[in-house]
This record gives sequence, structure tokens and C-alpha cells, in this order.
Amino acid sequence: MKLLLIEDDTILAAALDRALRDEGFIVEAVTDGGAALRFCRAFEPEIAVLDLGLPDIDGIKLLAKLRELDRNLAVLVLTARDGIADKVAALDAGADDYLIKPFETAELMARLRVLSRRLGTADSALIQIGPISLQLGHHTAMRDGETLALTRREYMLLKALMCAAGRVQTKQSLEQKLYGWGEEVASNTIEVHISNLRKKLPEKFIQTIRGVGYTVART
Ligand code: CA
Repeated sequence: MKLLLIEDDTILAAALDRALRDEGFIVEAVTDGGAALRFCRAFEPEIAVLDLGLPDIDGIKLLAKLRELDRNLAVLVLTARDGIADKVAALDAGADDYLIKPFETAELMARLRVLSRRLGTADSALIQIGPISLQLGHHTAMRDGETLALTRREYMLLKALMCAAGRVQTKQSLEQKLYGWGEEVASNTIEVHISNLRKKLPEKFIQTIRGVGYTVART
């Protein structure tokens, strides 16, 4: 499931980015409202985690704009403010849930699981391409109905490719999806994961686009 993290505190954002990827989300992290709106169009997230205190735009206004762009986007608001008025304003503007800072990462993950489950009732719960299906809510991949034994990174890689089926994913963008900010990644890491993943998938399921990256065909 694709998640847009909008948080200008870079230390907190890096920690959340890592934790969210570990939880299996495909994450894009931005630090201001302008970038949030651009990424909402380009990345088409299903969930946004939005810090209300941003440098360039009032969080409540941004929330309303995000809602205009995508009525189905689930939004969890982070706020340092604890006034009742802010909570009400956030919920009125279309937030699905909110957390007051400081919060435990585990609490955020629990809330997001609830949101994902709610979204999971829609068609995004299952991605099926040929004999391969992903059950996003359960973080499992199946081949002809049999569960595939994938490592966490292999699953994330397959999910990144299948969620963007028909589009080419560059090695760099896959690295960003699999690894957290500041994490050391060897130059051939993606190739190694792809090679291992291919052994478990039908032939030519993952195609190499030479010099560019990888893709999974839409059908
Ligand atoms: Ca902030």
C-alpha cells in the first residue's frame, strides 16, 4: 500500500520512513505542502500521514487540498497541538484519524493497520497479475493459489513492481522503496533480489529493461 509521509521534522521523518517500510508500506516522504501536492498527483498514495505544522502551508488547508485531489485518500494527521479546535478542524477537513505528538511508533502502526484494513475492503486489497496475486493486507504473495516463500525484501520488491505494473521502475526507485534513508545499499543489491525473486516466479514475469530498470506487464 502506498503511503505519503508529510513531515518537516527530518529526524522524525527518517525514523518513520524506515518503520513504515518495515511494516510493508511503499513510502514517499516529503517535507512541505507543495511537494505533498505534487506527490499526491504523481505517486497516487492510498494513505497520507500528515504533520499539521508545516513550513509553507497550514496543515488543515493542505488536508482539504489533498482531499480535493483524491477523495479516497485516507489521511492520518499528526499534530503537536492538542487543542480540541484543531482536532475538530482536522476531522472536519476530512482526516480519518489523528495522533498527538509525541507518540509511540507502535501506536502509529496500529492506527495505520486499522486504516489499511478499511481501505483493504476496496479493490486495492488484492493485486492479481497472471498466476501471481498479492494480498496486501496479509503481506503475502501467492502463485496459483500457493503461498510463495518470499523474504520481506523480495515481497516488497514484487509489490513495488506489481503495484506499478505496466510502468518501468528504475533501480534507484526500487532501492528507495526497499531501503530506508541513510541505509547502506550495495550497488548490485536490487539485481540480487530480482534474481532470487525470479527463481520463484514464472519465467519472464519480471522483465529487465536494459539500462533503465525492471517492469511487470499489466496482464
Ligand atoms: Ca512540523
